[in-house]
Amino acid sequence: MMKSVGYAAQNATTPLAPFSFERRDPGPNDVVVEIQYCGVCHSDLHQARKEWGNSLYPMVPGHEIVGKVTRVGGAVKKFKAGDLAGVGVMVDSCRTCPSCKAGEEQYCDQGMVGTYNARDHKGELTFGGYSNNIVVGERYVHTISPKLNPAAVAPLLCAGITTYSPLRHWKAGKGKKVGIIGLGGLGHMGLKFAHSFGAHVVQFTTSLSKKEDALRLGADEVVLSSDAAAMQKHANSMDFILDTAAAPHDLNAYLALLKRDGAMALVGLPEVPPTVITGALAFRRRSLSGSIIGGMPETQEMLDYCGEHNIVADIEMIPIQKINEAYTRMAKNDVKYRFVIDMASLQK
Ligand code: NAP
Ligand code: ZN
Repeated sequence: MMKSVGYAAQNATTPLAPFSFERRDPGPNDVVVEIQYCGVCHSDLHQARKEWGNSLYPMVPGHEIVGKVTRVGGAVKKFKAGDLAGVGVMVDSCRTCPSCKAGEEQYCDQGMVGTYNARDHKGELTFGGYSNNIVVGERYVHTISPKLNPAAVAPLLCAGITTYSPLRHWKAGKGKKVGIIGLGGLGHMGLKFAHSFGAHVVQFTTSLSKKEDALRLGADEVVLSSDAAAMQKHANSMDFILDTAAAPHDLNAYLALLKRDGAMALVGLPEVPPTVITGALAFRRRSLSGSIIGGMPETQEMLDYCGEHNIVADIEMIPIQKINEAYTRMAKNDVKYRFVIDMASLQK
């Protein structure tokens, strides 16, 4: 077994603290990554604090991982020692169901194996990226462009793909009016992508203080969602809305902004389920849908797109010792726009 160190939650209420554990020895198809940077996703906070009710402890969160390959198994083709590599939200899936065969492994019929807070196919608990190393099958490891700042690439592995995938699926691009709800870790990536794809982008926010940032990041218009008159101006006009809000909010107010046959996709996962007024959907044949991350091929496509278009996250780097403070600040909506842990701090 390989020795690992990291930070773990032992239950829903005590702070994350140093934790030693073991990872499997790499098999022929495995890649060993020495973790350099790990983004801090709101899903880490939801799960560490058991907000979704499905938490397994001890939990080492972290699914926005970038690092250096230190070792590869004999059958590995894509990587060699020294390469930059990325690991996102999943580390395995059944590989045989229609979704896996289609490269949409996040929708695996057996359920994907999460990078943390999950059990692998041997029943062992998985441990995530708030740690010094990780062992992952090659299929679930991505190549990273050396042109980009690796710390700012880390959030692409979850926040990036979770917004890129639905924006591509619903064809956000030239000639489309696209809304992004929430300017957080996911939202700011959604905004960058929608702008880059050529859409007319309306950023919805609960925080007036983020207006200038939203414009800088590519918004054509910014709407304070509590301003009913400003919301009304967009009624029946939007082709697609991507909802990234992490807290409960009224979906109907946004559904009313979709034009006929417009669609809204939920990627935010607040702990309280929303209420939807049927008429808000039926009267303009609108649809409400959802999406999780993206499959392995699309995640690589997104990373390559970011390399070509010089797109990364806006980050605030923290040492691992500040992780509990970072959670408190994220819960208060006080991050621009993603915390990233500098994993070198683990050695301090
Ligand atoms: P985050 O950085 O904390 O951003 C969330 C944003 O939600 C905030 O910045 C805020 O933006 C907005 N918000 C907060 N309260 C709101 C309210 N009452 N009404 C409307 N908007 C509100 O979180 P994140 O890491 O981007 O994650 C967002 C959500 O997506 C979380 O629930 C997370 O678990 C989920 N998630 C889902 C997937 C997936 O695959 N589907 C992947 C990753 C994360 P403003 O200040 O601009 O209002
Ligand atoms: Zn995430």
